[in-house]
Amino acid sequence: MSYADFYRRSIEDRDAFWAEQAALIDWQTPFTQVCDHSQPPFARWFVGGTTNLCHNAVDRHAATHPERNALIFVSTETNQERIYSFAELQAEVERMAAMLQGLGVKQGDRVLVYMPMIPEAAFAMLACTRIGALHSVVFGGFASHSLASRIDDAEPAVIVSADAGSRGGKVVPYKGLLDEAIRLATHKPAKVLMVNRGLAEMPMTVGRDEDYAALREQHLDARVPCTWVAADHPSYTLYTSGTTGKPKGVQRDTGGYAVALAASMKHIFLGNPGETYFSTSDIGWVVGHSYIVYGPLIAGMATIMYEGLPTRPDAAVWWSLVEKYKVTSMFSAPTAVRVLKKQDPAALKQHDLSSLRALFLAGEPLDEPTAQWIAEALGRPIIDNYWQTETGWPILTICNGVERAPSKFGSPGKAVYGYDVKLFDENTGEELTGAHQKGVLAIEGPLPPGCLQTVWRDDDRFVKTYWSSIPGRQVYSTFDWAIRDDDGYYFILGRTDDVINVAGHRLGTREIEESIASHPNVAEVAVVGVADNLKGQVAMAFAVLKDTTALTDANAALKLEGEIMKVVDGQLGAVARPARVRFVTVLPKTRSGKLLRRAIQAVCESRDPGDLTTIEDPTALQQIKDLVGG
Ligand code: ATP
Ligand code: MG
Repeated sequence: MSYADFYRRSIEDRDAFWAEQAALIDWQTPFTQVCDHSQPPFARWFVGGTTNLCHNAVDRHAATHPERNALIFVSTETNQERIYSFAELQAEVERMAAMLQGLGVKQGDRVLVYMPMIPEAAFAMLACTRIGALHSVVFGGFASHSLASRIDDAEPAVIVSADAGSRGGKVVPYKGLLDEAIRLATHKPAKVLMVNRGLAEMPMTVGRDEDYAALREQHLDARVPCTWVAADHPSYTLYTSGTTGKPKGVQRDTGGYAVALAASMKHIFLGNPGETYFSTSDIGWVVGHSYIVYGPLIAGMATIMYEGLPTRPDAAVWWSLVEKYKVTSMFSAPTAVRVLKKQDPAALKQHDLSSLRALFLAGEPLDEPTAQWIAEALGRPIIDNYWQTETGWPILTICNGVERAPSKFGSPGKAVYGYDVKLFDENTGEELTGAHQKGVLAIEGPLPPGCLQTVWRDDDRFVKTYWSSIPGRQVYSTFDWAIRDDDGYYFILGRTDDVINVAGHRLGTREIEESIASHPNVAEVAVVGVADNLKGQVAMAFAVLKDTTALTDANAALKLEGEIMKVVDGQLGAVARPARVRFVTVLPKTRSGKLLRRAIQAVCESRDPGDLTTIEDPTALQQIKDLVGG
């Protein structure tokens, strides 16, 4: 079937389309209604059906292929490599489920998971969904304050954690941060289950803290059957990256999510049972939920869980894993590729990557130099995909599993089946149906299966935040700005918050960044709009350089600034030319690697940068403050 027909059917014959996809998973009770959209914008998928995420990810494969690899754990931090077959994974998950039940966790309770990238984190997630409890994974790098606010939001019965994570060979102790977070939080968990990796001190609070290894010994033969839950039973909550402000707690269902992931593994990620998937993300992010833990396992694939940096012991470590485990699909982010790009591409060529069908990238705009570098270095197809924590799986990409189609540089691709993607004028609410018109990327309801049900405990915020921003319409706004070409390929221009309005011309930060990044000496760049008396706004650019001479040599800096402005003039015109291009050694980013443009903008306008709990390296913002004198 052509992709155009496949897509059209998903929109025009929605229920029949999704009923077919639903056959990719096991149901305990069949559903009676595919989609209940009687109370828009809320949608309920597969009404009347019961199923279980853990059953679909683990048990059904353990029953048919118990010996197959399921979880491949590799840590270049502790030099460990452990493989769990589906049978072994199921046994560990059942042990963990028994422990959680023993600690009082019941269906509908929340379990907060604050863990490094170790197998026990995946066991905990799967154990939760096995017994109908909701997991709330909090990225292991967050400090006490961020963790405390998430504890209060989730009100977990139990927290699962570990003594420490490790990054670049440096131990990051967790227990002190966790204890402090629990002290700061209003809600107090009854029990804390601690995995001791032997990396750091782990003082235990008597009566509250339990040792995982000791409890596991008591549950070696535990059998905990999957709890069959309604398709719309929530499986987990997860916070957005906090790039634009206070993170939003996304609530996901069970049946719709399982179907959406199973379908995406087939049509987008080209995954088959018995093959190996490698996503370099972290379980703390949505990519980790969908494409480290649930997606590959649901597809019957082995999934690699990697703890460590992409550059340690050397820049070829990921590719050595691809070769060793014959990885067929790999998923990473442009930010990680940019880290590798600073290294020698020869490292890549030492490994046999012939098993790899494609490298999928998502999370932020994939700039052309980065895309070209990695495509050349790998010699395999690079597939950009655009989505959000909220949606749980791609909105825009190329569905090569349906029909092979070319990628276009700078575009993640076309609307993915199930998503009725449209562009709107954000001021008038008019739908932009022509090609090459700039508008807000929005989705006509109902959102397809797998997307957020609501904001955790805040239906109002769900409706107000996502469904009320385009005048006169109830459509889901992605808050990203885009254009569509004649072939139906979308190009993301930046976030709606980041649109720069120079003397009446609206420019996406992305357009200007892309142009600046094409200068051979620019490794990375952030552009923000800054208030200006004369023009309304002007663009300001902050660039990280490959050759850093300009950082210390004022003349070289001026010369380079002029060169870069010329590049922008030539490519986009003088209106897009940044007022200044300044040079820094590092850009402020969230812990998931996204540029914190709103913080940069605030600093440039001498405003308070607001919620910075998700910032990776606060000194990056300080450099900008020092430069602009804020
Ligand atoms: P918050 O919503 O808390 O401000 P966030 O939007 O960064 O944070 P995520 O859900 O992790 O949280 O990121 C989704 C966003 O990332 C998208 O809305 C888009 O702006 C950007 N994005 C993701 N993938 C791509 C891509 N392939 N190309 C361009 N932008 C992308
Ligand atoms: Mg967002």
